[in-house]
Amino acid sequence: MQRNDTDVRSDIKPRRISPAVLMLFCVLTLLAFSAVCGSVLLDMRRGEEALARRTMENLASTIDADISRNIELYDLSLRNVATNFVEPEVKTVSKPLLSLILFDHAATAQHFGVIQVFDAQGDLVLDSSTLTPKPENHAGEDYFEVHRTDPDRGLYISRPGLHHSTYSLVLSRRITAKDGAFVGVVVGSLRFSYFHDLFDRLQLQPDDTITVFRRDGVVIMRTPFDLDIIGKDMSGAPGMHQTLTQPSGAASRASAVDGIVRLFVWRDSGHALLVVAGKSWDTIFSLWRREAQRIGAIMLGLIVLVVAATLFLAREINRRGLAEDRLEQLATTDALTQLRNRRKFDTVIAQEWRRTMRQGDTLALLMIDADHFKAFNDMFGHQAGDQVLVRIAATIRACVRRSADCAARYGGEEFAVLLPGLSIETASLVAEKIRGDVEQLSAEKWATTVSIGVAAMVPSQGGSPSLLIEAADKALYEAKSRGRNQSFVAGVGYLSLVA
Ligand code: GH3
Ligand code: MG
Ligand code: MG
Repeated sequence: MQRNDTDVRSDIKPRRISPAVLMLFCVLTLLAFSAVCGSVLLDMRRGEEALARRTMENLASTIDADISRNIELYDLSLRNVATNFVEPEVKTVSKPLLSLILFDHAATAQHFGVIQVFDAQGDLVLDSSTLTPKPENHAGEDYFEVHRTDPDRGLYISRPGLHHSTYSLVLSRRITAKDGAFVGVVVGSLRFSYFHDLFDRLQLQPDDTITVFRRDGVVIMRTPFDLDIIGKDMSGAPGMHQTLTQPSGAASRASAVDGIVRLFVWRDSGHALLVVAGKSWDTIFSLWRREAQRIGAIMLGLIVLVVAATLFLAREINRRGLAEDRLEQLATTDALTQLRNRRKFDTVIAQEWRRTMRQGDTLALLMIDADHFKAFNDMFGHQAGDQVLVRIAATIRACVRRSADCAARYGGEEFAVLLPGLSIETASLVAEKIRGDVEQLSAEKWATTVSIGVAAMVPSQGGSPSLLIEAADKALYEAKSRGRNQSFVAGVGYLSLVA
């Protein structure tokens, strides 16, 4: 029998992207993308915070400079009074002249109150607004007691309150005689209207606060204005110790007044008052939050889109893979017997030939042919013949169970069974099992038998699968010529003879 050479071609499938790998890639890409976006947003957030801090530092510095300049200016007038009042010459001049000498015009500026001089008993002796002041005694006032007992106090700023029926800040200095004796105090005031004017000029957000503290923590002024807080000692409030003792700084804390969490910033200029600017985090991050929400929404949309597209793609790849598998199965399976077809057998034998050659292993082959099949067809018809072929195929399949084995319909009523790694002895046992089991299929009227040619070899370089096929074919021919329904082992001889 003449056989065509086996096609030696590889059966390597094109690489297919697995849907799981695609999903993993998609998830990793989205995670990386989200991480980059998150990092950019965090940078933006840090930028907003730094900008707010800088702006508030500048604001606190500007307000502090304005307040300090005005207080210094007013203090100059108080010092002038305190210094000149003890000059011996002033006792000799008339009251109008004394008033002219002691009170300069700077002290009459818009927000400054009258300057008054009280003697050592607290009695009013001079008033910058009138030459004939009404009798007053301020011995009970805090500033009077402070200066009387502490010669080195310098400028003293009282708690804010009503002073001459106007909410003001009372500023005072001690008048000390040349010999150090307490002569009295000079008292002036800075009206709240000054602070209102100052704060009104600023463009503040609703939650922004500016608080002016005395060094001991007493609130001198605050915007938004609240009379209940003015004059309160806040030195015990959480975080205030840090604010009052650290030269300059910033801190985030809930306001002791309204509970809103703010960033508080203060700059120390070394003056009598301390300015603290506060901005709520809500305000600081309002722009950033809007931007983050916008970017977040776009990101979410993109993620949904990419995930949907990936899922769709994964499903398509899956469907395509299944279709390809089905097509491949159809292309490699014999339609009648469901065994591998000739095309697949050619591929497998070429692969196994190379593999067993590499491993120095044996490759065994059975060539199986139905006996007198033409006559069977002629007698019972082609359809009955087909049924017999199906049953022979099922018998072969039942006898060949290892995953590496390959049972195929070689053509017409011929089958081939490739048994990699089996010795010729073991292969002939398989052949005998097949032959015997097929024989069992025989009906009363007709014996269904097969003849089998068995061959085995260790593939070598320079050889080809056709050598093995040829050897098995010759053995099959021998089995036929020896009377059929038997297996013949190439190089060994027949194994059984059932005549
Ligand atoms: P031998 O014992 O020498 O093999 O005799 P044989 O009749 O089996 O051999 P031969 O080569 O003369 O005839 C083979 C027959 O197998 C011819 C053909 O009708 C039959 N045959 C081939 N393929 C099919 C098939 O698919 N279905 C059916 N029913 N018969 C087939
Ligand atoms: Mg034949
Ligand atoms: Mg035949």
